[in-house]
Amino acid sequence: MSEPFVIVGGDAAGMSAASKARRENPDLEIIAFEKGDWVSYGACGLPYYVKGEIEDLEDLVSVTATEFREERDIDLRTQHEVTGIDPQEQTVTVEGPDERFEQAYGTLLIATGASAIVPPFDGVNLDDVHTLHSLPAGAEIRSRIESTGPDSPETVGVVGGGYIGIEMAEALRGQGLSVHLFEMLPHVLAPFGETVAEAVEAELESQDVTLHLNTRVEGFEGDEAVQAVRTDDERVPVDLVVIGVGVQANADLAAEAGVELGESGAIATDEYGRTNLEHVYAAGDCAEMTNVVTGDPDHVPLALTANRAGRAIGQTVTGTPTPVGPIAGTAAVKAFDLEAARTGLIDEERAQDAGFNPISATITSASRAGYYPGGSPIEVNLVADRQSDAVLGASMVGEEGVAKRIDTIATALHAGLTVHEVEYLDLSYAPPFGPTWDPVLTAAKVLAGKLD
Ligand code: FAD
Repeated sequence: MSEPFVIVGGDAAGMSAASKARRENPDLEIIAFEKGDWVSYGACGLPYYVKGEIEDLEDLVSVTATEFREERDIDLRTQHEVTGIDPQEQTVTVEGPDERFEQAYGTLLIATGASAIVPPFDGVNLDDVHTLHSLPAGAEIRSRIESTGPDSPETVGVVGGGYIGIEMAEALRGQGLSVHLFEMLPHVLAPFGETVAEAVEAELESQDVTLHLNTRVEGFEGDEAVQAVRTDDERVPVDLVVIGVGVQANADLAAEAGVELGESGAIATDEYGRTNLEHVYAAGDCAEMTNVVTGDPDHVPLALTANRAGRAIGQTVTGTPTPVGPIAGTAAVKAFDLEAARTGLIDEERAQDAGFNPISATITSASRAGYYPGGSPIEVNLVADRQSDAVLGASMVGEEGVAKRIDTIATALHAGLTVHEVEYLDLSYAPPFGPTWDPVLTAAKVLAGKLD
């Protein structure tokens, strides 16, 4: 019998690969090692669990460990950490609850994900200083904020104005807490561009989130538990802290085995998710992908990217080579009553660095026909290359119809459409869903006018 398909990491990338490989080959031995207790969980739902909109942690699990074992015939072992890879012998070293052993592999998938970055702040080890990257971490935060009694937190400091920071600000306000949000850059949501950021900042302030922009957090003060956030110019009393300043790829295990990393620090992979080592693949938050606009390696750790790459690798290792597909960095975030979204290259400097000559147009349109009740403004920022007329990216913000509208531009990026081609797309229209000229088309019309 051939050696098994071994997977390190039991979440989006790993279990998508396992499931697809099983569907394609009912006889293949598939072993997945997960160091924690949870598998196939949606960390993306954690802010809504903390908010109380999702009742149980179990609700975030899409397929249980038992279902993988009994219904999909996958040898899934939780509480088993892979601590080493020997590419010559084609084995991994595994530490389980009671034993340490070597497991041979025919093909190996590294799907170890990413970890929350914890800067070396003073007082970072105080009680009630949290990150939010695992289900147990979400459970701990929720149990603290829902606790009753004199220690129950009333004021929370959120460090970082990225999408997790914004979602947590909403979750914590939803639980009735006062929230201070600290961001060292001039704006929140840097990858979404200034137009979106300014709208989101206004929304945060209208929801009584106290914003500290251009503010570097230096540390936390307290005896046992945190009592204050110390910034470069003030001391803000808080009872709990959530740090959300980004993630780093869990790539040490791979690097120690001789797997090459890219410039981002994540694992370098080719179009099939292969690493530089024979029979070793990588997918998900631990791996770089190819950016569809620049053609260069990029690291944008998001859920669909992980699921998609895992699925493609599951198909490849069972005999049908399938590219993992490029990424556009398409993302959406809910900020209280606003939706914000982005895709592709929208930062002028980054576009120039990639060899483009960017030009952009920002328009304000509406989410519904002007006469149809209940509409609201949508701002669209569309970016293109002056020379080729190719669409490079877009960002959008509004109260409705944004998170899915960005997908038109994401599709345009994958298809390599020009602004003039987007201008003449046959998009849907009915009064409750948008104006006759969809905001995407209006943005393309205005940008095309600038290009002509
Ligand atoms: P992970 O989900 O990190 O899974 C990796 C697994 O590998 C972990 O379970 C880990 O325990 C295990 N592991 C690591 N090392 C070892 C080892 N040596 N041995 C055994 N097991 C190991 N993405 C979006 O697209 N949209 C969103 O709205 C969104 N919201 C998010 C909100 C939050 C709060 C967080 C934390 C993430 C969010 N994400 C979102 C990101 C998304 O969750 C990730 O992109 C996705 O989970 C990546 O899947 P993965 O399988 O690559 O890695």
